[in-house]
Amino acid sequence: MMNTFNIFTLFPDMFKVLDYGILGIAKDKGIIKINTVNIRDFSANKHKKVDDYPYGGGFGMLMTCQPVFDAVNSVPKAHTVYMSPKGKVLTQKRAMELSKINNINILCGHYEGIDRRIVDSLVDEELSCGDYILSGGEIPAMILIDCVSRLIDGVLPQPESYLEESHTDNLLESHQYTRPEVYNGMAVPSILLSGHHKNIEEFRLAQSIYITLLNRPDMLRRRKITKTELKVFLIYYPQLKDDIIVYVE
Ligand code: SAH
Repeated sequence: MMNTFNIFTLFPDMFKVLDYGILGIAKDKGIIKINTVNIRDFSANKHKKVDDYPYGGGFGMLMTCQPVFDAVNSVPKAHTVYMSPKGKVLTQKRAMELSKINNINILCGHYEGIDRRIVDSLVDEELSCGDYILSGGEIPAMILIDCVSRLIDGVLPQPESYLEESHTDNLLESHQYTRPEVYNGMAVPSILLSGHHKNIEEFRLAQSIYITLLNRPDMLRRRKITKTELKVFLIYYPQLKDDIIVYVE
């Protein structure tokens, strides 16, 4: 079964970025299909105008209803996402859910945004890619397509690999090393070379908790850690006992 993304945008050429790497391969294999629809082509205005001033005053221009309605209605109905800084922030969990939907429409705003009536009638879900403002929804749409696509069966060469990645279990991934064992005097942590799987697993868990504690305590607050995890953590980071104890469930 192919997953199709229909993208509604003023800049279809930007999506050439998705021809590279894992996503390019997934497209070539026919696992995903990325179809861009140029909103400007649907403008009924003789100058192909797609924006206008906001009612009530304010800065900048807004995308108007007519071209967007006609563009979105030109394809079969599907779950429709509007990329927007006002939306819920995209998470790995939501990406996982979206990877189960076969057809997704993605609407990219530009200028100061879009007429609200578009969202009210055509959009099922508003998603943000983070708490900052970009100049258009194209890069956020590519972020969404990338993180959803790699969760679709057949896209990643080793499907289990995403289960161990950062954010999957509300913990950030432990640090990774590859050959050589020593580079410019810097050695790989010896435990990773020991071949002792249980110790390696514990070391990685402890380090994951450590990195999450350092960079994303908000994730630990939500996730909590078990007594068993605490024990493992303290083998490697005994000096952080007071810092970690507040996150034990
Ligand atoms: N005036 C709007 C911002 C408009 S930015 C506001 O304050 O909410 C222009 C377009 O860029 C938006 O329509 C949206 O599609 C996209 N965009 C900007 N930042 C984004 C973000 N963090 N996540 C998703 N889309 C974003």
